[in-house]
Amino acid sequence: MPLLERWKFLSARQAFNWRRLFGWLGASLPNRCLMCHQTLRSGGSGICETCLGASLYHRPSCLGCGRPLVMQTRYCGSCMVKPPLAVVAPGSYHQGIGEHVAAIKYQGQLAALDCLCDALVARIEALEALGLTQWPQAIVAVPLHPNRLRQRGFNQAWLIAKVLSDKLKLPLLEHAVIRSVDTRPQEGLTGRQRRRNLADAFKLQQDIEYQRIAIVDDVVTTGTTVNTIAKLFEARYIQVQVWCLARAEAPGLSD
Ligand SMILES: [Zn+2]
Ligand SMILES: [Zn+2]
Repeated sequence: MPLLERWKFLSARQAFNWRRLFGWLGASLPNRCLMCHQTLRSGGSGICETCLGASLYHRPSCLGCGRPLVMQTRYCGSCMVKPPLAVVAPGSYHQGIGEHVAAIKYQGQLAALDCLCDALVARIEALEALGLTQWPQAIVAVPLHPNRLRQRGFNQAWLIAKVLSDKLKLPLLEHAVIRSVDTRPQEGLTGRQRRRNLADAFKLQQDIEYQRIAIVDDVVTTGTTVNTIAKLFEARYIQVQVWCLARAEAPGLSD
């Protein structure tokens, strides 16, 4: 088939999804919800209350494994046996907010950043009010290695941590943790490979004068990254919890 004919054939069959393109264009207009493309009553950009509400956790969930619970306690029965690191997230990566969390990291698309951080703040405050978490004294972002930071141009975890730091009036410790080894991406690795990949990748750089810290990341999947950093703090008797915009139950989506 001649090249031009072939292109026409492909574009008619699959190369262009016009409905999707118009969806993107609509969502990229200011004051439009990124999900339903309706005008945002609050102005600005992001996700409307209806779409966001439908995408967040509706049921209490275990802070260890993320499993739904009948009533909100800290951990489910299985996690109580050997309590894992508490992870606070407003919703699942697989329930609508995932693509907007991914867009922050992979496309530098920040339209949803503020409203997702608001949803996380609401969850943090609700758990604290129930006495299930303790208010941290400072927050740290999962760092990128300088090589990766140069490539991407920004650290998505730092962006989220900065917004949270401003909203919650908590100090953001900029240089507390450094990533001293340029590890390969965690996507697609098994649990053991993930742990081996990150062994000695992080270092605590300074004396930390706080007893309670929240580590901030965009997505928590298996938790290998945040657990590796948490161990460094716990070795100095500093209590750790994790805050993220979404929790992914299936491995392979994030570090
Ligand atoms: Zn909407
Ligand atoms: Zn659990």
